[in-house]
Amino acid sequence: MIIVLFGKPGAGKGTQAPLLAAALGVPTLATGDELRAAIRNGTPLGLEAKSYMDRGDLVPDSVILGIIKQALAEPRNAAGVVLDGVVRTVPQAEGLAAACAELGTKVDAVLCFDIDDEEIVRRLAGRTVCESCQSPYTGREPGTACDKDGGRLVRRKDDEPEAIRNRLEVYERQTAPVLKWYRDHGTRVAVIEAVGSVQDVTARALGALAS
Ligand SMILES: [Zn+2]
Repeated sequence: MIIVLFGKPGAGKGTQAPLLAAALGVPTLATGDELRAAIRNGTPLGLEAKSYMDRGDLVPDSVILGIIKQALAEPRNAAGVVLDGVVRTVPQAEGLAAACAELGTKVDAVLCFDIDDEEIVRRLAGRTVCESCQSPYTGREPGTACDKDGGRLVRRKDDEPEAIRNRLEVYERQTAPVLKWYRDHGTRVAVIEAVGSVQDVTARALGALAS
């Protein structure tokens, strides 16, 4: 069983990935982890990836997908995987489909964690971090004092409403075509309302997979 996860920034995909994987009895497979492992193990694709990174270039999709394909072929992933952050664009969806076909498998479902944009702005803008000890806070105004050391709480630039709206726009532009690609190719796409408790969202996602 291969599940592809999508989610708006702030929709809690990163929280859900390991919970879903545990409930399904399969591991998660994230691009960043596999890339780091390939580099650490000095595999040919890992070395190729490293040569791009050393030059400050993006690692091309073909190299990333080669690494993902090798990971999918490993015994630890034989029962299936939850893919987190592996597919963000249509060419990546096509590349993953080709890699899966060569391995005699396919993507079974795409789960998209969705939540109202303004709710995301509200959630992320509610996060602050202490300037001196970096402790994270939620629901505290920037400029108030850290409980631990009295340091000033600040909002990360990434969490400013304007920056969040930009990230959401990028997500929308990239993701809508990917979901359409999967639907056009007969893959089940389930949109999961990512509101309520973490457990509620996990249950909703598992329900969508079982239905
Ligand atoms: Zn502090």
